[in-house]
Amino acid sequence: MADTLYDVAIVGSGPAGYTAALYASRAFLKTLVLSGMQPGGQLTTTTEVDNFPGFPQGILGPTLVGDMKKQAERFGAEVQQAMVTSITKGDVFTLAVGDKKYQAKTVIIATGASAMYLGLPSEERLKGKGVSGCATCDGFFFRGKVVVVIGGGDTAMEEATFLTKFCPKVTVIHRREEFRASAIMLDRAKNDPRIAFLTNKVIEEILGETEVTGIRLRDTKTNEVVDYPTQGVFLAIGHKPSTAFLTGLVDLDAKGYVNVVRSLSPLDPQTATNVPGIFAAGDCVDPRYRQAIVAAGQGCMAAMDAEKYLEGLHR
Ligand code: FAD
Ligand code: NAP
Repeated sequence: MADTLYDVAIVGSGPAGYTAALYASRAFLKTLVLSGMQPGGQLTTTTEVDNFPGFPQGILGPTLVGDMKKQAERFGAEVQQAMVTSITKGDVFTLAVGDKKYQAKTVIIATGASAMYLGLPSEERLKGKGVSGCATCDGFFFRGKVVVVIGGGDTAMEEATFLTKFCPKVTVIHRREEFRASAIMLDRAKNDPRIAFLTNKVIEEILGETEVTGIRLRDTKTNEVVDYPTQGVFLAIGHKPSTAFLTGLVDLDAKGYVNVVRSLSPLDPQTATNVPGIFAAGDCVDPRYRQAIVAAGQGCMAAMDAEKYLEGLHR
């Protein structure tokens, strides 16, 4: 059994986790971060981050989260590379990492989410070389280029529309005739002369050795295969939150995002889950914004909510 009782255990080490750790440790709470299989989170997979305030020249993703870690450690947060497999609730919370157990009075879930990809080897090879899962993040680097967006939901429409700021032509490629996107988002994209649509097409291969040069498409009705030239491929086929290990512990929505108890009163904690003492922040609760600054902001909120909760326990 664990010999240290932490005030706050934070599961995840992206911007949400490290910001929560900074606020908790700076509030003199005994703070543990369990960093998971991807220490630093999604930003470690990117290069330039242009839209995190405070860095007028931009900053490399790994440097940004590396500095967040150092800042949290400066105030005493302890960081361990460990993947939590389950959390149980007793007098305190027990977090299992294989056979090892950690105990804490409160838990902040900050396990993030990841963009879904098609699973093609060529896609994996060309990630960051023309293949992206985030137009908001990477669109800027595709200025003047011709790109495609894969998907038929609201994200695909939103990303296609966003990309027209940079790209002279954007083609939305969807595997069916009907779109899942809401009528208003679809109409907006359809009425934009810079956006073209190809339906009933699936991607068989992403073409290019060191950078994307095209995609191989198969028509689902005729089986005809054609190579379609493009310089960028944006996947917009959904996101998956990393929350499977929480099933049965906290309320999750149909897609697996943690349900936080949203309240209209600004005086209520906005990051509380249905389990008293468990809070959640960042992309694991957020199917909409999915930005580092939002995750960091929510991490701050979760730490402040945990601090208030602990004050209540000790009263
Ligand atoms: P994440 O960063 O996803 O971190 C999740 C953490 O949880 C990881 O450390 C992981 O190891 C850990 N974890 C998961 N499961 C467990 C477990 N069971 N036990 C322990 N730990 C666990 N946003 C921007 O604002 N600007 C950008 O320029 C930008 N560029 C991006 C580029 C790319 C390629 C990608 C993929 C994303 C980009 N984003 C960008 C989005 C941004 O990275 C995310 O919004 C942000 O990282 C979310 O932070 P988070 O802390 O919620 O989760
Ligand atoms: P989504 O609604 O689940 O749509 C995913 C799309 O990707 C679907 O069209 C799906 O095709 C397609 N797809 C899935 N797997 C695929 C694969 N392997 N190959 C090819 N295509 C594949 O996801 P989303 O668009 O990210 O939206 C998620 C939620 O966020 C929705 O509730 C949405 O309304 C919301 N959202 C709202 C806004 C807004 O209002 N501004 C913006 C973005 C997102 P099928 O249709 O054939 O299944």
